[in-house]
Amino acid sequence: MARRKHTSREGNHHCHCGSGLTREHCCGPFLDGRSIPQTAEALMRSRYTAFVEGRADYLLDTWHPETRPEVLELEAKQQWLGLSIRATSGGGPADENGEVEFVARSRVGGKGIRLHERSHFLRIDGRWYYVDGDFLV
Ligand SMILES: [Zn+2]
Repeated sequence: MARRKHTSREGNHHCHCGSGLTREHCCGPFLDGRSIPQTAEALMRSRYTAFVEGRADYLLDTWHPETRPEVLELEAKQQWLGLSIRATSGGGPADENGEVEFVARSRVGGKGIRLHERSHFLRIDGRWYYVDGDFLV
């Protein structure tokens, strides 16, 4: 597969989360602080995009205060290859909690990493937060 080229206009390329939408119509407004995700899945997608873009600040901001780490150091050499949402439960605009099961693939050096996780999300004062996740195989 050809290496993805970034266009000069940030908002124009396909969103890293794999939705098929442009960044501007997907995770971009959340990462740029212009809007907030209305569903747990949208938050999950934007957090994946934050990993790709190295946005530790966004990851911490969207982490539930009770489970949020003090600091988050992202692995600079980690190359993210794709996100696949497998299932969702709850997490809608009228819900207060939700689960999203996903597979995220990445590579560090020559080593492929497959993260299969069921993440838990809570909505507080209208905002979705990542709480924690169970690793699946
Ligand atoms: Zn996206």
